[in-house]
Amino acid sequence: MIDSTGYTYAHEHLHIDLSGFKGDIDCRLDQYALICDEMRTLMNLGVRNIIEMTNRYMGRNPQFMQDLMRDTGINVVACTGYYQHDFYPEHVATRSVKALAQEMIDEIEKGIEGSELKAGIIAEIGSSKGTITDLEKKVFNAAAIAHHETGRPLSTHTSFSTMGLEQLALLSGFGVDLSRVVIGHCDLKDNLDDILRMIDLGAYVQFDTIGKNNYYPDAKRIDMLHALRDRGLLHRVMLSMDITRRSHLKANGGNGYSYLLTTFVPLLRQSGFSQADVDVMLRDNPSQFFQ
Ligand SMILES: [Zn+2]
Repeated sequence: MIDSTGYTYAHEHLHIDLSGFKGDIDCRLDQYALICDEMRTLMNLGVRNIIEMTNRYMGRNPQFMQDLMRDTGINVVACTGYYQHDFYPEHVATRSVKALAQEMIDEIEKGIEGSELKAGIIAEIGSSKGTITDLEKKVFNAAAIAHHETGRPLSTHTSFSTMGLEQLALLSGFGVDLSRVVIGHCDLKDNLDDILRMIDLGAYVQFDTIGKNNYYPDAKRIDMLHALRDRGLLHRVMLSMDITRRSHLKANGGNGYSYLLTTFVPLLRQSGFSQADVDVMLRDNPSQFFQ
């Protein structure tokens, strides 16, 4: 499932379309040639795996992912699940928890939308800002059932770094071993206290909005990473960029996927991180978690 010899971007999107929800064509990320170029660049930088977090109702495209794997050699791990309340299709409310779980199980065991691509992760399952709605709790319940049935790990979406601890409490209540859970978007606010508690509970945390300096500056991400390094906790941290828009691509004036390795990692190194520290977060942790 994972090529453990190289780096893994733990929370990305390669083909996503939230333009209908957001009323902005920029939110349709679908430019194949540009993304192909960027994946080739990543391969040259030592990246071997992309964990693709776009589930069915976010504009997932299995053919697009398969073409990218064939044309660039990068390994893409696809996901199954439901995103977050505001983006749910109507049937999340009407179908049973068991039926929702079975859809996830089928995408893991049989394949996605008639393709040969199978989901390797249950993601990104999310909560709203400052609350987990009843429907979101229902999806977490279904995700936990699918996890127990298939053994595949769980990766979440938090809104602006809120409710991570509550997500873990919920999953723990559904009998999930929290070492099989990674909490997403932990790096969008001063969040060290919650991060320490999440790691203490056994979960992984993602710093996966690297480069989104308009939300939260990378310098502060680096400060939080230092606090984790000082405590010997880097073995629970994964990194990524959560690219979702056309304007995030390099050719369209954005950072591009390579920013993490060509800009952020050099900043980390200058601040005192060793290459071994970087390798733990970008290679060893995701290799172990997504295996
Ligand atoms: Zn997300």
